[in-house]
Amino acid sequence: MEQVKIVVIGSLNVDLVVRAPRVPQDGETIIGSAFQRFFGGKGANQAVAARRQGAYTVMAGRVGRDIFGDEQLRSLEEEGISTAGIVRDEEQPTGTASIILDERGSNRIIVVPGANGAYSPRDVDDLRPIIQDADAVVVQLEIPLPAVERALAVAWELGKLTVLNPAPAADLPPEIYRTVSVITPNESEAALLTGVEVADLAGARQAAQILRAKGVRQVIITLGARGVYGLSADEEFHIPAHAVAVVDTVAAGDTFTGALAVMLAEGKPLQQAARYANAAAAIAVTRPGAQPSVPRRSEVLAFLKESSGDELA
Ligand code: ADP
Repeated sequence: MEQVKIVVIGSLNVDLVVRAPRVPQDGETIIGSAFQRFFGGKGANQAVAARRQGAYTVMAGRVGRDIFGDEQLRSLEEEGISTAGIVRDEEQPTGTASIILDERGSNRIIVVPGANGAYSPRDVDDLRPIIQDADAVVVQLEIPLPAVERALAVAWELGKLTVLNPAPAADLPPEIYRTVSVITPNESEAALLTGVEVADLAGARQAAQILRAKGVRQVIITLGARGVYGLSADEEFHIPAHAVAVVDTVAAGDTFTGALAVMLAEGKPLQQAARYANAAAAIAVTRPGAQPSVPRRSEVLAFLKESSGDELA
């Protein structure tokens, strides 16, 4: 099969994780037990997910002209992802998420968007030749909304498949929906976008119908441990989640969206693409961390074959 081209336009963060027996009090210094650094940001995670399914993947976004920015670029390049769409911001630092984990497993997180917050519609315009050359464009909501709107508008105008993962949850302008081929909210994001409580399949259907009425062609709502609900002009389906031993659900949604985008760009029907992404995300939840937990295509295919005798792709 010909290799598809995916452009992911979104956030790149460095996660700084500190483990400590407890959270310090005001003015107090305590000794922690571990410090780790991970590459993240929904954009970068989804680019990794697309790349590991075999797509030629270009990442677009902003990082600072700092060490974290250098390391982000190197990490993506080692993954085989093109960094041709990444701009070095001369003023803002690379985005960070500082995370304190205590012994009870509670976490406290401060995100500083930094360079992500400076990504602009003009950056998208500079990306036009790259978008022109792509099969699908994938965006999330961790960069400023005007840039998201421009990315979808340009990609739509160029006739590309557009995938919007509306995370983190935020209100969207009504005009945006008609530039979206596929939207992939989770339950709470679908609820925020539609005003419908998505606690069961009936709620998912109602929310999906509203999103379709707003102009989105295909709707996929991820339902966590309940799997996936999908609706398009000619299909409606529910795919249960795989029964797996959950380690952590970090990047489950990112794995899902990245994998779905590749399958759709390859021309797979919505339900078949969702079935594949549901398996990819199931594997991701059995492994710790974000990017390290994202499976490769060969693993997803082996998992699907074992779990259902399915032979896809
Ligand atoms: P997000 O991580 O964005 O909140 P979800 O929690 O809906 O998204 O998870 C995305 C997908 O990951 C689900 O649709 C499913 O395919 C998979 N998944 C999530 N939680 C589980 C689970 N407990 N068991 C199996 N698969 C899961």
